[in-house]
Amino acid sequence: SQRLSARLAQARPSATGAASEAARRLAAQGRNIISLAEGELDFDTPDHIQQAAIKAITEGQTRYTSVGGTAALKAAIVTKFARDNRLDYQIGEVIAATGAKQILFNALLATVDAGDEVIMAAPYWVSYSEMVRIAGGEPVVLPTSPEQDFKLTPQQLQAAITPRTRWLMLNSPCNPSGALYSMDELRALADVLRPHEQIMVLADDIYEAIVFDGVFCTFAEAAPDLQARTLTVNGVSKSHAMTGWRLGYAGGPQWLIRALELLQSQSTSNPSSISQAGALAALTGPQDFLDGWRERLRARRDMALSILADAAPWLSVRKPAAAFYLYADCQAALGAITPQGQRLNDDWALAAWLLEEAGVSVVPGSAFGMTGYLRLAYATADERLRLACEQIVNACQRLR
Ligand code: PLP
Repeated sequence: SQRLSARLAQARPSATGAASEAARRLAAQGRNIISLAEGELDFDTPDHIQQAAIKAITEGQTRYTSVGGTAALKAAIVTKFARDNRLDYQIGEVIAATGAKQILFNALLATVDAGDEVIMAAPYWVSYSEMVRIAGGEPVVLPTSPEQDFKLTPQQLQAAITPRTRWLMLNSPCNPSGALYSMDELRALADVLRPHEQIMVLADDIYEAIVFDGVFCTFAEAAPDLQARTLTVNGVSKSHAMTGWRLGYAGGPQWLIRALELLQSQSTSNPSSISQAGALAALTGPQDFLDGWRERLRARRDMALSILADAAPWLSVRKPAAAFYLYADCQAALGAITPQGQRLNDDWALAAWLLEEAGVSVVPGSAFGMTGYLRLAYATADERLRLACEQIVNACQRLR
């Protein structure tokens, strides 16, 4: 009776979840653990959003809504895309869902048949490959390097395309590398894709609001003629510190948005009505606090980089352009010997040792399809972040 479907047997559990779990276990034993594993801002959801949600409860917005979101929220999504991305979507071309994650998952489920291929650059967000597998498709993972700023090149993309290619999953700014594609880089990728009419583009823009160096551009903005082949995915999780509210949204061609609505209607129905009210306030209310958040994050990024410079030669960390992660090259530490006499054979072993030795939880790069790296999320209170980085440096200095 304990038999999983072939579909689920393909999928691996989330490695970021495993890292958080290991940290929780040690914390439960009374250890003071600092987590740099979590992909979320430590800021509170802004007050005007909280108040809008509370008002929604007390005013009785507590019932089912339209499956794809309220008319007011859809209108706000249309306005957001026009205002921030110069994208023109009609009401029937947008949808709200229970997180951007649900949209990514449902989009793949709606369009991928057994054996269809989905291209993604490594490092990629942990869930991409597993979502593709659960949908029955084949992840086609294209490794990138620091020399190419962890960005897919048009040549790599060209060489990976087959008649079975269904999607290119693009994530700019990228979790975990922080890579940000310029408009020209997106146009060069679009040139490759243009003649292959079976290929769609999934633009995961969830980190749009967190850009330090360079200018954000979404794929359909760079290649307007391919907008009808693009699903533009976003959400309030990372932009407005609302990860727990579970509210994402997307714009895309009507046939695909209808398919996403069909999937939601037969599974989860509408995203929480309260969260929709919060998201409406987030999208239509003041956006000026974002500048302050961005500056605080930039200061944290720079502080973490300057402290971690002392972890050389074991760790080498490049300055990411965007998002709130450092993707540290730890290849020099692989094969190193700990004071306990243990040889650190891979990034999993290094992350596990850092948790024990430094009391800091980080995610091994292998989880993102690229070995020899560690991902450190720096959306952590300044003093804790400083302490965590110092403890990592101290631990590394004990390696031989
Ligand atoms: N896409 C990327 C690249 C992410 O890192 C995350 C969250 O970590 C998501 C999507 C999911 O966001 P949401 O909270 O809206 O489901």
